[in-house]
Amino acid sequence: MHAHDGEARSGDGDVVLAGARVVTQAGTLPSGWVAVRDGVIEAVGQGEPAAAGIPVLDLSGAWLVPGFVDMHVHGGGGAWLSSADPDEVGRAVRFHLGHGTTSMLASIATSPLDSMLATASVVAGAAAGPLAPALAGIHLEGPFISRERSGAQDREAIRDPEPATMERLLEACDGWARVVTVAPERPGGLALVRQIARSGAVPAVGHTDAGFEEATGAVDAGARVSTHLFNAMRGLHHRDLGTVGAALSRDEVVCELVNDGVHLRPEVVRLVFQVAGAQRVALVTDAIAAAGMADGDYDFGRVPLRVRGGAARLVDGRTIAGSTLTMDMALRRAVREVGVLIQDAVTAASSTPARAIGIGDRTGSIEPGKAADFALVDRDVLTVPAEEMRGTKVLATMVAGEWVYRAK
Ligand SMILES: [Zn+2]
Repeated sequence: MHAHDGEARSGDGDVVLAGARVVTQAGTLPSGWVAVRDGVIEAVGQGEPAAAGIPVLDLSGAWLVPGFVDMHVHGGGGAWLSSADPDEVGRAVRFHLGHGTTSMLASIATSPLDSMLATASVVAGAAAGPLAPALAGIHLEGPFISRERSGAQDREAIRDPEPATMERLLEACDGWARVVTVAPERPGGLALVRQIARSGAVPAVGHTDAGFEEATGAVDAGARVSTHLFNAMRGLHHRDLGTVGAALSRDEVVCELVNDGVHLRPEVVRLVFQVAGAQRVALVTDAIAAAGMADGDYDFGRVPLRVRGGAARLVDGRTIAGSTLTMDMALRRAVREVGVLIQDAVTAASSTPARAIGIGDRTGSIEPGKAADFALVDRDVLTVPAEEMRGTKVLATMVAGEWVYRAK
């Protein structure tokens, strides 16, 4: 480190990222530049960089997109984000940084209360300290969910709605609870939705057997997110719109999609983009520790899982149990397999989830005043078919002006 001696010069990390295709909310700049000062985007332009006194880094040939915001992720690289071991939480965060995610929530699945409380306080400590700002908070996936729609959640650990227990969990999160998934049709479920909203976290409807009216009532009570739309909820019938119909028909609701080709067919992902618009779609991974690892057997808390061909299921072989998806692949699939415009896919991977979890004023798009959070993506990623794609997808990741990952 150098002492600055008060002289007027650029800081160590200040840089102009130039020559890349820069995806902004107003459109893609074919040869754009972004000036970064003190970890924040100072200016954005096209052509010759106009930021004086800052070194220029040539990124010709790559895409510069906002760092991805994954609001539903359990782990990756063999590590769990929902771990009572802070080192393991760090390993999982670093794995996803290597795939372009610059803000993520640690999703804590339904498990025995003591375990959820212990994990929540470890993750909260990491989010407040060493893993800030990439670890942006906590998503509680339960325990007040439906036993009929438990998916891969620990059925024995599902609880009836209890405000006092909810309070204990929120306290363990120490202000870092950003999203809480509940089944609003359970007795006391709507009161829970209001309690979560009052706490400052975002109530999410998921792992639920709610019908259209019950789910709509939850939105009226403050629910603003649909947890992995379609999965572990009542589907859409033309006379019985179910939880899915309620989520799609209300403009306030952001719909999470696990776009891994296993949870949802590409055609339904395209339909949701058409119906709801990218402003209301959040691409999420729902990734488990097996992401980035070989096929094999894993434990999701007390629930044994089997990963075959990259698809995670309960050992019954039928129920999907999280994914091995990464956000770069979710973006790539949205563009290549689903046929969404790059602009919209990027919005759904960054600004929409950032807004949904309450960090949209700080990150999620490339514009002056926002944090310098970027994924630098290989040109081929969005243009070459999956079978022909070998090696690196994300070339580098920057969080708040610092390179936190570079491909070898
Ligand atoms: Zn999940």
